[in-house]
Amino acid sequence: MHNAYQQLVTELQRLDTLNAIQGILGWDEQVNLPESSSAFRGLQLAEFARIYHRESTAPALGKLLDFLQSDKIELDADQAIVVAEARKNFDLATKVPETFVAKRTEARSRSYHAWVAARKANDFAGFASCLEEQLQLSIEETAFLNASDPYDHWIDRFDPGMDAATIERLFTALQSELKPLVNQITSSSIQADTSMLRGFPEDKQEAFLKDVIAAVGFDFKRGRIDRAVHPFCGGHTLDTRMTTRFDENNPLDSLSSALHETGHALYEQGLAPEYRGTALGESVGMAVHESQSRMWENQVGRGKAFWKFWEPRYRALFPSQLAGVDSNQLYLAINNVSISPIRVDADEVTYNLHIMLRFSLEKQLFTGQLRVRDLPEAWNAASSQILGYTPNSDKEGCLQDVHWSCGMFGYFPSYCLGNMLAAQFWYTILDQVPGLECDFEVGDYSRLLAWLRTHVHSQGKRYQTMAIAQKVTGKPLEHESLIRYLKERYLPLYS
Ligand code: ZN
Repeated sequence: MHNAYQQLVTELQRLDTLNAIQGILGWDEQVNLPESSSAFRGLQLAEFARIYHRESTAPALGKLLDFLQSDKIELDADQAIVVAEARKNFDLATKVPETFVAKRTEARSRSYHAWVAARKANDFAGFASCLEEQLQLSIEETAFLNASDPYDHWIDRFDPGMDAATIERLFTALQSELKPLVNQITSSSIQADTSMLRGFPEDKQEAFLKDVIAAVGFDFKRGRIDRAVHPFCGGHTLDTRMTTRFDENNPLDSLSSALHETGHALYEQGLAPEYRGTALGESVGMAVHESQSRMWENQVGRGKAFWKFWEPRYRALFPSQLAGVDSNQLYLAINNVSISPIRVDADEVTYNLHIMLRFSLEKQLFTGQLRVRDLPEAWNAASSQILGYTPNSDKEGCLQDVHWSCGMFGYFPSYCLGNMLAAQFWYTILDQVPGLECDFEVGDYSRLLAWLRTHVHSQGKRYQTMAIAQKVTGKPLEHESLIRYLKERYLPLYS
């Protein structure tokens, strides 16, 4: 029996190695690929995907799982988690026919390119049929898996154990307290002025940013940060790859997005390498991942204690650029809150409203209450109702995000759930690690990282999204901590 389990782990680690190679090909595509080589990279990725699919659906693996799940075998709790997760992944890969997978892959790529063109031209009509196809294929795929509710199925894929009804309940409660708070902040006579921050040379920004991410604990011996059009974190616990971008006239953006990606990277680097390839060495899901990135970006990186340490260093690097900006103005710019149309540019307060808007529309698309061709009007109406902003174009509205073009429905809620979870973890940490923010004043993050390693990172996928909230904080996932945190941070600044 021990033998069969060991055999499974060996096989899962082999698949993990293959998957990591695929990841590096994808990273390289974003970071290094010569312009005219993209079609060839497409071929390489498609060929590799076929190899991976063949390996991960091998009948021998299915037989091994059958054996391990039979009554001849007794597994301990950890082993049972590994076997159950491997079974889930095996079924997901084998129950969907290869012809359908190929069809969906091709449609996804076509739809992505149609979206790029449609967004550029502000032409929703030119993208509508692709979006319709993505929605139908998403629903069709869940039929192969006997999912009772297609939208719930996709939510569960990103955040195990989560469903639309739970999200609805959490978002409704959050929204009712968030909207008055946003009104209070945005109608204040005090407002940030980010236009003062101009002419920050990219190389110096990069040097500063690398100091910051090394200080918070990113291990450069098994990871790197490079430049790419879109910031992301990919790779593996043994070789973590992050990207960022620089804008000389928007230096705080690259810093906060790099800290965000570092939060993802610290989670990846904190997974137990001895369990790699298995559920015990894997992240829980996107909400927990976002809780990590958001915590480093916001709770830590926008905090007073953090800047007490870094501000003198920042000023030493950019003396002339910051000459006319006093500490209060800088701190207000770091914590700028304003209603804006684009989600990826949104501050941490209004960001949640952007997500609620997307969630409300996704749900209606899946139930058929909303037809794809009516999406622009529905988006604009929901945007003015939830966000308080009516887009001037579809580019500012329903064409702004890439997710749906690639068939990623059910992903958006993770961002907001991650914000809630980050705040909930944060207050638990402040309780359990007294004087934590004094550490930040001297640039020390080791106690925070150690806590996250113990309570979140090293747990792998032992707990689902809701269960890890309960286990770590002693209560179910809730919205009150996020509201408390936002009030504590922003009300003193804006009143
Ligand atoms: Zn993220």
